[in-house]
Amino acid sequence: MEYILKTNGLCKQYKSFKALNGLTMNVPKGSIYGFIGKNGAGKTTLIRLICGLQFPTEGSFEIYGTKNTDAGICSARRRIGAVVETPSIFPEMTAQENLKHQFRIIGIPSFEKVDELLELVGLADTGKKKAKDFSLGMRQRLGIAIALCGDPDFLILDEPINGLDPQGIIEVRELILKLNRENNITVLISSHILDELSKLATHYGFIDKGAVVREMSAQALIDACRKCIMLTVSDTEAAVKALEKSGFNSEYKLLENNRIDLYAQPNITELVHAFDEQGCELITVKEHDETLEGFFISLVGGDSHD
Ligand code: ATP
Repeated sequence: MEYILKTNGLCKQYKSFKALNGLTMNVPKGSIYGFIGKNGAGKTTLIRLICGLQFPTEGSFEIYGTKNTDAGICSARRRIGAVVETPSIFPEMTAQENLKHQFRIIGIPSFEKVDELLELVGLADTGKKKAKDFSLGMRQRLGIAIALCGDPDFLILDEPINGLDPQGIIEVRELILKLNRENNITVLISSHILDELSKLATHYGFIDKGAVVREMSAQALIDACRKCIMLTVSDTEAAVKALEKSGFNSEYKLLENNRIDLYAQPNITELVHAFDEQGCELITVKEHDETLEGFFISLVGGDSHD
């Protein structure tokens, strides 16, 4: 697999506090990499190091195979677009003026791509409206458009969905998917809410106390969130006999109120027969998935670091 970003044991220390503590992660080319961690886990710190806004105290990283200490790191960074913390927008300017200003900053004399970019992020019809009068979602999309001015193939977004209303979340999510699928942009997106990223991430890195505790594909996450069938029965003792007889030896958990969680995918007709044979009635059957947030908490614990 080809990786756009690889980090190796990255550390960032402030006096005695380690904001990053040996962070190792790999962002595959073409992925939408969900970088998930609680507030204060170190997400923004990592992003600031990658973008060259701060320097690591230990460890290293590579962008497109160029090491952070190599001379070529600046040109490798030119292939990155980033929105770190809040988007760098001039509130008194329109969307178009903001983009023109960004093109000037990065030394592109032509404004040819401005309208195309506004169209891409869904801000083509904002006309004379100043950025300060935009909704939070529009501002976020303008921030992404600004990050796209240099035509990057790697986009880094720090908590882009934070504070958005449901409509804003959908718009930003669809934009990210479009950039990834149609424009082949690899995206690193940080969040403290796994659920928000689950509709778009193809890969995940879970960060806790400055280190990545687990990297996995979206499919592996789905598999890890164990599916189970929740049964309500008339008689748990008889139900256990039926389950054992049907070969589900230790794949179930007895709960209160005649409930049983079965971690298997049984044939329901056969199960009903087996229960019937033991004189047990199957009252309700419901499918249950472990929530993504439940999985996240099981990885990084429920306490807060701030
Ligand atoms: P959030 O979602 O709250 O931004 P985060 O995962 O992005 O969280 P960081 O902003 O990377 O977390 O901060 C990681 C830790 O490093 C925090 O405990 C923060 O207080 C600390 N930290 C960040 N910058 C500094 C600094 N300049 N000096 C001292 N500590 C810092």
